[in-house]
Amino acid sequence: MASLYKMPISNLSGIGAKRAELFKKLGIKSVGDLLNFYPRTYEDWCTVEKIEKLQYGGMCCIKAVLGTPVSDSRISGGRIVSKAVVYDDTGSLQILFFNNKYISSMLKGGTEYYFYGRVTSSAYGAQMISPTFSPVSDGVKIHPVYRQTAGLVSRTISNAVKQALSLLPKTINDPLPEQVRNIFDLCGLREALNDIQYQKNKESLEKARKRLVAEELVVLNLGMRNLREMSRTQSGVIIKKSFSKEFESLLPFKMTNAQKRAVSDCVNDLTTKSTSMNRLVQGDVGSGKTAVAASVCYTVVKNGFQAAFMAPTEILANQHYQTFKKLFENTDINIALLTGALKESEKKRVRQELSEGKIDLVIGTHALITDKTEFKNLGLAVTDEQHRFGVAQRAKLLCKGENPHLLVMSATPIPRTLGLIIFGDLDISVIDELPPSRKPVKTVLMNSIHRKRIYDFIKSEIKSGRQAYIVCPLVEEGELENIASAEEYAAELMLREFSDIPVGIVHGKMKSNEKDEVMGKFASGEYSLLVATTVIEVGVDVPNSSVMVIENAERFGLSQLHQLRGRVGRGKFQSYCVLVSDSKNPSTLARLETLCKTNDGFVIADEDLKMRGPGDFFGERQHGLPQMSIADFADTKSLELSQKIADYIIFVYKDIRCDELRLLRAEIERLFERGGQNNLN
Ligand code: ADP
Ligand code: MG
Repeated sequence: MASLYKMPISNLSGIGAKRAELFKKLGIKSVGDLLNFYPRTYEDWCTVEKIEKLQYGGMCCIKAVLGTPVSDSRISGGRIVSKAVVYDDTGSLQILFFNNKYISSMLKGGTEYYFYGRVTSSAYGAQMISPTFSPVSDGVKIHPVYRQTAGLVSRTISNAVKQALSLLPKTINDPLPEQVRNIFDLCGLREALNDIQYQKNKESLEKARKRLVAEELVVLNLGMRNLREMSRTQSGVIIKKSFSKEFESLLPFKMTNAQKRAVSDCVNDLTTKSTSMNRLVQGDVGSGKTAVAASVCYTVVKNGFQAAFMAPTEILANQHYQTFKKLFENTDINIALLTGALKESEKKRVRQELSEGKIDLVIGTHALITDKTEFKNLGLAVTDEQHRFGVAQRAKLLCKGENPHLLVMSATPIPRTLGLIIFGDLDISVIDELPPSRKPVKTVLMNSIHRKRIYDFIKSEIKSGRQAYIVCPLVEEGELENIASAEEYAAELMLREFSDIPVGIVHGKMKSNEKDEVMGKFASGEYSLLVATTVIEVGVDVPNSSVMVIENAERFGLSQLHQLRGRVGRGKFQSYCVLVSDSKNPSTLARLETLCKTNDGFVIADEDLKMRGPGDFFGERQHGLPQMSIADFADTKSLELSQKIADYIIFVYKDIRCDELRLLRAEIERLFERGGQNNLN
């Protein structure tokens, strides 16, 4: 089976270089990857309806003959429409496909097919747009439906999966040892791979799913344990004395009690335990996590060690650097910035000085964990906005010293069962109090008809000295609809609505130095309005901004919206968040209403989890874990089961490096590689 992961997908018939590219977009490169590409759902084609009796609007299945061959024509924008008429003994209906040049070769005139899709009415009578289909001679009644990408229909995927399965030998070695499968009532891998694709009945599907989910989570579980083991060791860094009181005198404000508690938890770890600190500081957006981290850095540096502070984006690293520089202005602490965007010569200088120990505190991005960066005596590694980092990156930063202390900070509340997997035995401090005199952000949901009012409001706030953000969702190429891309949107605004107001724009495609320049100008007040994609989501701190408008708010997850909203309401001004959405979907609107009702990140995360569609809550890899192919992180029961299985495996086999677990180990490596994180060595 392992060899199938090395076989490129273009070895399969019907898959040339072009299609292989499309498959790659779905994360499928090898034949083996196809075996782990599971259906999103299944269509039941058991009830076949007559064309004459069809009701408009519903999904249905018909059995019909293709009368005419498919005809392709071009419409505006170079798009292709493929049309054909199909009939049964009661009537006929038109079928239409858009932008799929393969359709004409896939459907043959005179052949009888099942077509499954939604029936709509048109000037030419009944029609089905982009139905799924299969020749009646195939006899398949329950059809897997896959996650698709433009140009690649479910049927093509299904064909490829079928071929991949046929290449799989009758018996394969199972990564889960038989003993484990027996005890936890899990079916064999070969059976599961087959049954998850071709459902014989509900029971066989459930069994297959249970087995595959369990395996995936066990693999994750063991992989994480392994990582943790690497970091839970005797510390080589001895911190004798706390300097947190001294630090407080540097701050321009008084720390909240919650901040003080978090600092003293950390200092206690540092000064009284023989093992390294492993602590997560969790606090809602704006709760003041930076000051806590700064305090811990201060104590470590004052004890003669170096500290490294890693942020997920250049923008954020830069901002923290400015903050820290100001904070430590009148101390003897030597601070440096290290990001990928610096000039080569500058990076070289910083790295040189880090290795010589001339720099006490370095703030940076991933540039900190490349092989080139060496420390003289790293005593503390801090990662900000932990959910944006892969767990492996955290581990890599730790490898830069002799078991340095670890502090991770996160604003994303994580359900307990999942938290156990991600953080394991990490100790947790919660900052459950916002700095005083914060006014909760007022949030409203508005239809885009009221755009004029929204703009007028922005203008009035800017007039009274404030600043504003407008956030547009990321738009993938080829996505049409009415979704504003940040670039176009900003251009439009600058030309028309805000022609007399300085507008800055940041989006993901810009180079980091360009982004930094714009952010710098926004922070210094040179720009009054910033149009941005979600690159500003994490951490950015411009306390003078008081309005955040989020376009197409329905496209974001609730927790993500909450993070975005956290960019305002950071100073003494009353702040506002306007969610713009024209969605008519009641559950979407209810979701957005939640944000209008509460500012509590934990409540929002909870609601998000309750109301979310599958995979929604942890969309955008908010957790730093590898991408799962079947397991769902909100499925508490499976998470708990996997924990039990993993415990059992460790109990029976002692060490995951033993021979019986060879295949399971290979799976761990594959999972972490898929998330761009390879860390089992
Ligand atoms: P986050 O927890 O989201 O990282 P920050 O650390 O960026 O929050 O803090 C948000 C803002 O609140 C910053 O402008 C910071 O200077 C300010 N701040 C932090 N702690 C306090 C405090 N105790 N009193 C007043 N302002 C504070
Ligand atoms: Mg922060």
